[in-house]
Amino acid sequence: MVKKYDVLIIGGGVSGTALFYILSKYTNLSRIALLEKYHKVAQVNSRGRNNSQTLHIGDIETNYSLEKAKTVKPAAMMIPFYVKKLYPDTQNKILFKVPKMILAVGKNEVTKLEERYEEIKELYPDLQKLDRKGIGNIEPNIMKGRKDDEELLALYTPDGYAVNYGMLAASFIKEVEKGANNRSDLLLGCKVENITRTDDGYKLVTSKGVFRAEVVVVDADSYSLFFAKSLGYGKKFSLIPVAGNFYFSNQLLNGKVYTMQDKKLPFAAVHGDPDVQVPNKTRWGPTAKFFPVLESGKLSTSLDYFKSAGLFRYCTAKSFIKILGDYTRLKYLIKNTLYDFPVIGKILFLPNIRKIIPSVKARDLKKAKGFGGMRLQRVDTETHELQLGEGRIIGDNIIFNMTPSPGASVCLFNAVRDTEWIMRVFDNKYKFDKLAMENNCTGGYPCEMDRDTSVDFYSS
Ligand SMILES: Cc1cc2nc3c(=O)[nH]c(=O)nc-3n(C[C@H](O)[C@H](O)[C@H](O)COP(=O)(O)OP(=O)(O)OC[C@H]3O[C@@H](n4cnc5c(N)ncnc54)[C@H](O)[C@@H]3O)c2cc1C
Repeated sequence: MVKKYDVLIIGGGVSGTALFYILSKYTNLSRIALLEKYHKVAQVNSRGRNNSQTLHIGDIETNYSLEKAKTVKPAAMMIPFYVKKLYPDTQNKILFKVPKMILAVGKNEVTKLEERYEEIKELYPDLQKLDRKGIGNIEPNIMKGRKDDEELLALYTPDGYAVNYGMLAASFIKEVEKGANNRSDLLLGCKVENITRTDDGYKLVTSKGVFRAEVVVVDADSYSLFFAKSLGYGKKFSLIPVAGNFYFSNQLLNGKVYTMQDKKLPFAAVHGDPDVQVPNKTRWGPTAKFFPVLESGKLSTSLDYFKSAGLFRYCTAKSFIKILGDYTRLKYLIKNTLYDFPVIGKILFLPNIRKIIPSVKARDLKKAKGFGGMRLQRVDTETHELQLGEGRIIGDNIIFNMTPSPGASVCLFNAVRDTEWIMRVFDNKYKFDKLAMENNCTGGYPCEMDRDTSVDFYSS
C-alpha cells in the first residue's frame, strides 16, 4: 500500500527533527512523516561526538560579518529558550553552560581583535576584554610557558553554551511523541532510494516501501545536493569534502577557547573545548582533511560523493583549481591531511594547540577515534567561488537544505522558516500557530524571517 503525506522530511539529524517537531506541534497539517535511514536519529553530523558542540551566536566567531552575527544570534538563542521549557533532567543532557573565549596571539591578531570588539560590543554587551593578567586568571594554562613579550588579547563571556545536538534531536522526537497524534509518523531504518516528480507531488521509493507527498523537505545535509541533482536541481554546485577530526588531552582548559580565523578559510581555526560527553578532557580540533566521502568513516559513501560533486565536468575542475590553487588554502589542506598520519600527525598538529597552551607536549595528545564529521563545502562552478555557510535550493514544492556550521545552532530557526514556506505552498489551507511556537522557542519574542542565515537558490 502506498502511504500519502502532506509533507515528507528526509533526514533525522537535528535539522529534520526540528522541522518534524515544529510541523507536528504547531501546525494542523493532516499527515507528516520523517524518514531516516539509520535506526536512531542524529547518527551523522548532529551526533554528539561528531561536531564541536558549540552554540554559535557570533561573539567569538571572527569570520562572521556584523550582519551575519546579528542574524545568527537570535536564531541560535532559540535553542536555550526551547530547552529551558523541558524537564530539568532532560535539559541537563542537552544544554551546558560553558564559558567561551576568543584568543588573539601576536600584534597582528591583537589589532584585528581590537577592531572586532569595537564592531560587535553593542551586540554582545556581556563580552569582556581581557589582557594577559585577565586571561591568566580565567585560563591559567594559556599563560604557562608563554613568552613575556608575546602580545595577547581575549574576548570572554562566562555565559556561553555547549549543546549535545544528538540529544537535542532526540528531544524533538520525544516532544512529538508526547503530543501523540495520528498525524506524524517517524520511520527509522527507512532509506530513501530515489525521488521522482509526479502529477500531484513526489513519489519516494524507500527501503520500507513507496511513499507519496505533496511537499518534500530534504534535510540530509551532505546528501541534500545528491538528491537535488537526481531531480535536476542545483546542477551548478559541486562539493569540496573536508573531514573534521579531533584530538584529546587531559583537561587543560576551563571553557571553550577559539583562535582567530583566516577569512579565506571556511572553517573555524583550531579550538579547545570541554566535551559534554567526555568529562575531564579537552577536545582539540577540528582538523580539515580532504577526503572524498559524504559521511565520516563510511567509504561506501564515496561513490555518492563523486555523483554529487560532478568532478569530471570542465567547470568543476576549473573551480577546484581556482579555489585550491590559492596558496593559503592549498597549504592549509596539505598540512591538515598530514595531521591524520600516525605518530607524525600529532607532532605536526602541536603548534596549533601551543598557540593556546604553550606548554603542551605531543605525548599529551591522543587521537579522538570515532569522533568527527564531514564538512561538505559548496562550490559554485559558474563563478568558481567557494560558498560559505548554509544554503537552500528551493524547487517545485521541494527544498534541499545544505547545512554546514552553524546549521546545528540555527536548526529551530530554519525549521520555522521552512514551515512558513510550506504554509505558502499549501496556499494557507493549513494554519501555523506561530505565537504558540514563539512562546516555547523564543521566549515570546517575534521570530523574524529576515534573520535567515542561509543563502537561497531558486530553481524551477
Ligand atoms: C567537525 C564538525 C564540527 C562542527 N561543529 C559545529 C558546532 O560547534 N556548532 C554548530 O552549530 N555546528 C557545527 N557543525 C555543523 C553541524 O554538525 C551541522 O550543521 C548539523 O549537524 C547539520 O544537521 P543536519 O540534520 O542538517 O544533518 P545531519 O545531522 O548530517 O543529518 C542528516 C540526516 O540525513 C540522513 N539521510 C541521508 N541520506 C538519507 C537517505 N537516503 N534516506 C534517509 N535518510 C537519509 C542521515 O542519515 C542523517 O541522519 C560541525 C560539523 C562538523 C563536521
